[in-house]
Amino acid sequence: MAAPLSSRPEDRSGAVLTVDLAALAENWRLLKSRANPACDVGAVVKADAYGLGLEPVARTLSAAGCATFYVAHLDEGLALRGILGNSTARIVVMHGPNPGTERDFAANRLIPVLNTPGQIKSWRGFAQTNDVLMESLVHVDTGMNRLGLTSAEFAALMADPDGFVGLTPLALMSHLACAEVPTHPLNAQQRERFASMLSTFRLKFADAKGSLANSSGLFLDQAYHYDLARPGVALYGVNPTPEAKNPMIPVVRLQAKIVQVRRVDAASPVGYGATFRAPDGAKLATVSMGYADGLLRSWGSSGYAFVDDLRVAVAGRVSMDLTTFDVSAVPESALGPGAVIDIIGTRQTVDDLAKAAGTIGYEILTALGGRYHRRYLPAPAQK
Ligand SMILES: *Cc1c(COP(=O)(O)O)cnc(C)c1O
Repeated sequence: MAAPLSSRPEDRSGAVLTVDLAALAENWRLLKSRANPACDVGAVVKADAYGLGLEPVARTLSAAGCATFYVAHLDEGLALRGILGNSTARIVVMHGPNPGTERDFAANRLIPVLNTPGQIKSWRGFAQTNDVLMESLVHVDTGMNRLGLTSAEFAALMADPDGFVGLTPLALMSHLACAEVPTHPLNAQQRERFASMLSTFRLKFADAKGSLANSSGLFLDQAYHYDLARPGVALYGVNPTPEAKNPMIPVVRLQAKIVQVRRVDAASPVGYGATFRAPDGAKLATVSMGYADGLLRSWGSSGYAFVDDLRVAVAGRVSMDLTTFDVSAVPESALGPGAVIDIIGTRQTVDDLAKAAGTIGYEILTALGGRYHRRYLPAPAQK
């Protein structure tokens, strides 16, 4: 057993990740205020709330009034049920039941999304055998060809008197492929297909709601909002309208600690593979954060960060646990003990970092590692 600790956790880690829960709650309210007023604006908290921590994120959003949560896997749903306890919050499991897991859905009040004829058949069998009257969502594909019933499968189930027998669907759902590009013609096509399938579905289930919009979908015309919205990334501060200014408030700050500062006396290579040559007299700072912490190796050659207001470039390759920056322009006074380099903050947002790494904010957030000291800035108490 390790000896009792006398140091603070924030002093033991190589980097500090700050998550602003007040900004998170504010982002949820902002999305809610944008949506068509009858729309239930939920929260997608899959993948550990996009890497930011399921428990603090779910507690904050639940306190702010969010009543519907979406996760991908059953295990995520079970973890969330443990966090939300007996609350009336709905938990929707988007990948639906794997064979043999139906009982755990029912016992934990987890609402399955039924994505395939097979999932519908098993859920129907389970519901009938056990006399379970539980809500579900039926997922139809409207043009993305990723997941959900094809039009032919949907039509066949609708035509079969036993197709949905014993089920009580809360909603028909679909997912937009190009919602972040408002002018993309697939948006309108998907919405038309969805509207037509929903009206057919309502011949059987008059009260069925519709669910189509993700974060970006909420920034399209209100006709895309329907009854249950499923925003994820915008809650966490990533821009849901990449072609326009970010309407969301930043939630994440990431600061890496400088372990060593050195000056090279002659032009010299830096890092693995000696791919970068620091010029004579360059000053280098190495931070204790690398690709094992989600700082993508592909970011290296074009990457930069900030010391206060000064932009500093990555020097050489990102290592597993260490990254070196050229800090020649930074005064000594800013590099003393306890100095940090801002990887994500007001000067470089998640979207900026993603762009420099050739990826999207979603991947940056979900790649964040498990070794940070995580600091959660509390949301003000609810009135
Ligand atoms: C992840 C996911 C969402 C959330 O999407 P964002 O773009 O993060 O808002 C919504 N619906 C489905 C089906 C998803 O898989």
